[in-house]
Amino acid sequence: MTRRRAVVAGAGIGGLAAAVALHRRGWDVTVCERAAGPSAVGAGIVLAPNALRAFDAMGFDAARATGPTSPAAMDLRRPGGRLLSRADGVALAARYGRPPLAVHRTALAAALADALPEGALQYGTEVAAVDGADGRPVVHTSAGTLTAEVVIAADGIHSPIRRQYFPAHPGLHYSGETAWRTVLRAGGPPVRAAAETWGRGERVGVVPLADGRVYLYATAVVPEGYRPAGVRAELLRRYGTWHDPIPALLERIDPAAVLQHDLYDLAAPLPRFHQGRLAWLGDAAHAMTPNLGQGGCQAVEDAAVLAHLLDGADVPAALAAYSAARCARTDALRIRSRRAGRVAALTNPLAVAARDLALRATPARVARRALDDLFAFDGFGQTA
Ligand SMILES: Cc1cc2nc3c(=O)[nH]c(=O)nc-3n(C[C@H](O)[C@H](O)[C@H](O)COP(=O)(O)OP(=O)(O)OC[C@H]3O[C@@H](n4cnc5c(N)ncnc54)[C@H](O)[C@@H]3O)c2cc1C
Repeated sequence: MTRRRAVVAGAGIGGLAAAVALHRRGWDVTVCERAAGPSAVGAGIVLAPNALRAFDAMGFDAARATGPTSPAAMDLRRPGGRLLSRADGVALAARYGRPPLAVHRTALAAALADALPEGALQYGTEVAAVDGADGRPVVHTSAGTLTAEVVIAADGIHSPIRRQYFPAHPGLHYSGETAWRTVLRAGGPPVRAAAETWGRGERVGVVPLADGRVYLYATAVVPEGYRPAGVRAELLRRYGTWHDPIPALLERIDPAAVLQHDLYDLAAPLPRFHQGRLAWLGDAAHAMTPNLGQGGCQAVEDAAVLAHLLDGADVPAALAAYSAARCARTDALRIRSRRAGRVAALTNPLAVAARDLALRATPARVARRALDDLFAFDGFGQTA
């Protein structure tokens, strides 16, 4: 029997996960990535239990990218160090089967790429357009044209393929915040627990990775496009008096290894995630702000659901079912993430005090229950 052919545009977490999931189900997969090679500057990413379950469904062990880890707590603190709430890793593992997993993005991408056959991932190959989605799709790339039974647009938040097919869509909405991210080398003072610290319109996150490195991120309410002249000085000015170990970690920053991205989500949902034999997934389909830590996780869910629905099925019908399965869930999370961001980014001192009081007063079991919608999802079909 001839193998069915899929072309994936974009080798981010969503595109690579989709490629692995389809490959495991017998598809012949080509991934076209416009970057010349894997990204050298990285950041961390936290994979929530729903994403880990989706990886399980495609037969991929995400822990391969990290080595052994143990469940850790995630604290929420005020800049002075006072605890606002704690998500206990052991309790999360008991409730959802496993605790969240913090990984270096580069290591995760490498592990996913390793799960693909040689030659499947083509760097330096930009997808310019996809024609004929309703018949036999043709993918026009900088390296020539490709045909396929199904094309997956995993080309990220600015998705050129989304703009090609939804020219009237209003595009992106600026959240009002920018984010800096970096990964510090192992060797500094040990960081045992993950923590996020909320100030007034400013946040810092500290997440230990399994190999001793530390993923550090910070956000601030700033005008769109704000770029400080010296990033290290800017971060020390904003967060240098916050509780330990934040000042010491900021001192260790290599400015060349800091990523800065303004935070956007889709201004409005897409009407559907497919057109004929073309499907969108990940940020291309439903870009959301990172406040729930679910953008990448939803991309992995998309990939697992899509591969499951495509298994042996008529492609246009499978993609219609994929849209039906994914649009409402991902849009609800996009909206919830936007709302969570508004609360986290409050600047008014009275509003911040009321927020912090409410956080301290919320029982841990109530806070955990609010995570059920995110973490308990299990609609991926059988393990490949
Ligand atoms: C500060 C911050 C923190 C975050 N933290 C988390 C977290 O902890 N957990 C989580 O789940 N999510 C998190 N997210 C969200 C997560 O990063 C994204 O949702 C996720 O990376 C989306 O993956 P993707 O594959 O859809 O898109 P991307 O990762 O953006 O990948 C798209 C790929 O397509 C390529 N591409 C674009 N155009 C073309 C083209 N024309 N031809 C070929 N290739 C193309 C790009 O080069 C890129 O490699 C965070 C986001 C931010 C900004």
